Amino acid sequence: MLKIVFLGFPGSGKGTQSLLLSQKTSFIRISTGDIFRSIITSEEIDDLFGSVRNTVLHGELVSDELTFEIIKRRIDCGSSWILDGFPRNVAQALLLSNFCMPTHVIFIDVSVDLVFKRISGRRIAKDSEKMYNVYFSPPKQEGYCDISGEVLLHREDDSPDIVKKRLEVYERETQPLLAYYENKGLLHRVDGNLSIDEVYHNIKEVLSI
Ligand code: AMP
Repeated sequence: MLKIVFLGFPGSGKGTQSLLLSQKTSFIRISTGDIFRSIITSEEIDDLFGSVRNTVLHGELVSDELTFEIIKRRIDCGSSWILDGFPRNVAQALLLSNFCMPTHVIFIDVSVDLVFKRISGRRIAKDSEKMYNVYFSPPKQEGYCDISGEVLLHREDDSPDIVKKRLEVYERETQPLLAYYENKGLLHRVDGNLSIDEVYHNIKEVLSI
C-alpha cells in the first residue's frame, strides 16, 4: 500500500501532481483545501461553515481537530491514499502518525518567485477538473475550458493579499514538517521548477511505480 503525503508551498504544483497521480493509479486523493473551498461556497452557511469561511479567506489554518476529523472519515490504513494539504503543521502530523503513518512524503520544492506567478495566473475548471495558468498553460479561448467549455474560476483565496498571508503561514507552520518527516526517513525532495511531465516522472521514480 502507498500512503502518500504531498508537501509544498501553495502553488508548488502539489494539487496538479496529486490529481495526476490519483487519476493514473486510482488511489483515493483527499485535498483539504478543495474540501474547505467547497464548504465555503456551499449555500448552507451555518456557524461552523461561517467560521471556516472566515479562516480560509484570511489565509489562516482551520482548526486541527476539524481538519483531522475530515481526514479520518475519508482514509483507512489498509488502502492506498494521497493527501494534498494535510498535514499542515506538526500537531496535524502527530495526529496522522498516531492514526496511520505515511509511507512517502513528497516535498515539491519551488522558488517563491515562481509560486507567485503560478498562483496569480491559476484558473480552474470545476467540472472537468482541468487546471490552467494564464502565463504557462493558457486555454485556447481566454476564460473558458478547452474540454468542457465551462467558465474558468479564479479562486477567491488566490488574490495577492491572501496569497502573501498563505505563504507566511506556510513558512511558519508547515516548513517544520520537513525536519519531522526527514527524521523519520520518509521525506523525498522533488524539484518543482521543472515541467509538469518532468515532475510527475520524478515522483513516479520516488514511488517506484
Ligand atoms: P490549499 O488549497 O491547500 O492551499 O488550502 C486553502 C486553505 O484551506 C488554507 O489556506 C487553509 O485556510 C485551509 N486548509 C487547507 N488544508 C488545511 C489543513 N490541513 N489545516 C488547516 N487548514 C487547512
